This record gives sequence, structure tokens and C-alpha cells, in this order.
Amino acid sequence: MTKLLEAKGLEAFYGDFQALFGVDISVGEGEAVALIGANGAGKSTFLKALTGLVPSHVKALSFNGEAIAGWRADRIHRAGIALVPEGRRLFPSLSVEENLLIGAAGGRKGAWNLEAVYDLFPDLVEKRKNPGTALSGGQQQMVAIGRALMSNPVLLLCDEISLGLSPKIIRDIYRALPKIRASGASVLVVEQDVGQALAVADRVYCLMEGRVTLTGTPASLTRKEIAAAYFGAS
Ligand code: ATP
Repeated sequence: MTKLLEAKGLEAFYGDFQALFGVDISVGEGEAVALIGANGAGKSTFLKALTGLVPSHVKALSFNGEAIAGWRADRIHRAGIALVPEGRRLFPSLSVEENLLIGAAGGRKGAWNLEAVYDLFPDLVEKRKNPGTALSGGQQQMVAIGRALMSNPVLLLCDEISLGLSPKIIRDIYRALPKIRASGASVLVVEQDVGQALAVADRVYCLMEGRVTLTGTPASLTRKEIAAAYFGAS
């Protein structure tokens, strides 16, 4: 499979604190990859390092055939990487529709527009004039995903999109994933819910204390291997 994203030897830092150590992670064209790991393992940091939001050093970082190490966040976004951040981060004073339209700014042209997002998440249609904060957690998550899609990403990064949501809402949200992939986007999801990650991903990476401890297809990994990679149990 052709590699869309390839990070080799990625190290990330918060001041003197090193959060990632020599991380090698790739995403193939059209692939859905899940990044799992316990609280504090470094999953969000990996996404933030990729998108230029935390300082990092990397041996090689390529995306869609270009070396993107050191690029600023806005250039990375224009190149086709969009992040659905942990905690959704909607603009509270703006309506659902305004939040979605902001996602299109500086993005690429393509099949995703307001109509396509409302088709994907019909719950948002009647809420479109409401402020982002007057929505349920699940609806807010839909807006956050829709906002990222409005930039027509080549690679969509999703940080813990199931956090704090009920199982039914999580199912509804994850049901959108095949449609997003069908639009041509590759997907990298960060998930604490291992079952969910294994259900949606073609390939999984596990991080522990800033290092990749396991990688493989869901079918190739045993529960024991995953537990050891996740918790450090033997
Ligand atoms: P979570 O599920 O809790 O978000 P995570 O796997 O995404 O976990 P990160 O948020 O990437 O983990 O955190 C990795 C490490 O970096 C942790 O030790 C965390 O305390 C530290 N860290 C994260 N953000 C900062 C920050 N802004 N300043 C300093 N240290 C940070």
C-alpha cells in the first residue's frame, strides 16, 4: 500500500519534558489506522506534533509525497491534514453552521460542503442556527467532525471522538466513518476504547509512555499482546 503519511523517529517535547520517543507510524492511502494507549501515553501529542501544534524532532516526516517536518500548522492544514481535537473545541458564540463554515477556511476544494455534512449527520440540520454549546455532546462531536471535513482533508485525524458519549451515540458517530473513507479520506483515530479501535481500524498502533509498543492488524493481535502493550503487563 502506498504510504500517505510516514513519521519516522518522531520525538515531541513540552519544554524539557519529552512526551514521545522515536515513534514510527504510517498511514496508507485509503487506510483507517487507530492509535490506542492509556491516559498520558502520548496519543494526543502525536496528533499535535503531526499538525505542527507541539514542537517535535523527526528523522523523516512525509505526507502525500512531501516532506512536511517543520511546517506551520496552517500550511499542514492546507496540504490536507485536518484534526478533530479532543474536547471538540467549538466556537461557543457561533452557530452550528458558522462553526462548520469556519472549517472550510483555508481548506481544499472537494466533495465536502454544508449539504454533504448535513447528509452525513442529519441531526444537525434542525440545529444549524443554534449555538454550538446548545447541543448534546454527541451533536457537538458531529459538528467538530463536520468542521474538519469542510476542509476536504486527505487525512482526517480524530482525537478521542467517543470520549464521554453514550454507546448509542458512539455507534452513530462511528457509522459515519465508512462514508468518510468512501469520500477518499484516510483516517487516523486516537481511541482509549480498544474494542472500538479494533472494530474500525485496518491497522492498530499501541503507545505506552511515549513509545510504540505494538502494531498490527486487529485480526493478528491477541488480547494478551494488547494488554501487555497497553498496560505494560506481562
Ligand atoms: P489522554 O488520553 O489523557 O489525552 P494521551 O495518550 O493523549 O492521553 P498526551 O495528552 O499526549 O497523552 O500526553 C502525553 C504526556 O505529555 C503526558 O505525560 C502528559 O502529562 C504530557 N503533556 C501533555 N500535554 C502537556 C502540556 N501541555 N504540557 C506539559 N506536559 C504535557
